[in-house]
Amino acid sequence: MNTSEKLAEKAAEDIIAATPSAVENVNNFTKEIFHTRGGRIGSGMGSVVEALWGFHTNKLLHSSEYELGWIYGHEYNDFACIRSSELWEPSTKAGELLRVEVKSMVASADESKAHFDRLLHEFDRNELLAVFLWDWTLVSEKNKMVYPAILDYFVGLAIPVARLRDELHLGRGGTFVSAESCPDKCGAQCTHIGEPLNAAGVRERRSGPAKAKGPNVSYAANFGGLLRMLGSRGSGGREILRKHYKSNPTTARFLDFMSRNFPRVAKSMS
Ligand SMILES: [Zn+2]
Repeated sequence: MNTSEKLAEKAAEDIIAATPSAVENVNNFTKEIFHTRGGRIGSGMGSVVEALWGFHTNKLLHSSEYELGWIYGHEYNDFACIRSSELWEPSTKAGELLRVEVKSMVASADESKAHFDRLLHEFDRNELLAVFLWDWTLVSEKNKMVYPAILDYFVGLAIPVARLRDELHLGRGGTFVSAESCPDKCGAQCTHIGEPLNAAGVRERRSGPAKAKGPNVSYAANFGGLLRMLGSRGSGGREILRKHYKSNPTTARFLDFMSRNFPRVAKSMS
């Protein structure tokens, strides 16, 4: 491991360790400032909560060597951990140690809209996934004021979670496109390698092969849905969940987080 990789690993650990206090600070702040009667869902508050985590975590990092930066433009990731002393260029990742993909879920919503659907080969080694479960929560029963509170969270390496996601996808009868199997028959020029297709052969992402569009939809969009991706079929699916839980502490933390908050995940684990 070179110096840069070591620093990236240290930064990842620092971000994970700072999160419990950062969440406490976010909740104190939103309770003080964002309290209201009512409380909208679908209001963009999830994005606000995600950003607040980044700013509060940044304040708690124990290094003068790196800091969190909010990525502008249309990058997939939300935050990057960047070297404090260097110029930062998001389009080339110059000055970056690692990136963080941040997702939020509303606890009372039936189905999470958050998608974790980038392909396995697109993740860097130390890239982090941060997921926040939040909901409008009573400040006090008396005045019916509510505030957006982070109720639970997971912050950890993204790759182990993506590996679990991918094996469960295969377990449900899905496949991943290879240059040889691409429905578009692109040959060596294939840009669809690794794209997920569901059991019916329909592409899961808009960027999948054009010939793999569904009969009524452009793409299926189930791949990487934070709840749906943990859906397992029968004992085979349960075996996959248990195997990953045992073999990787990050995956175990992710599954504990999801089981605590979603009974159907707990059920498929048991
Ligand atoms: Zn192709």
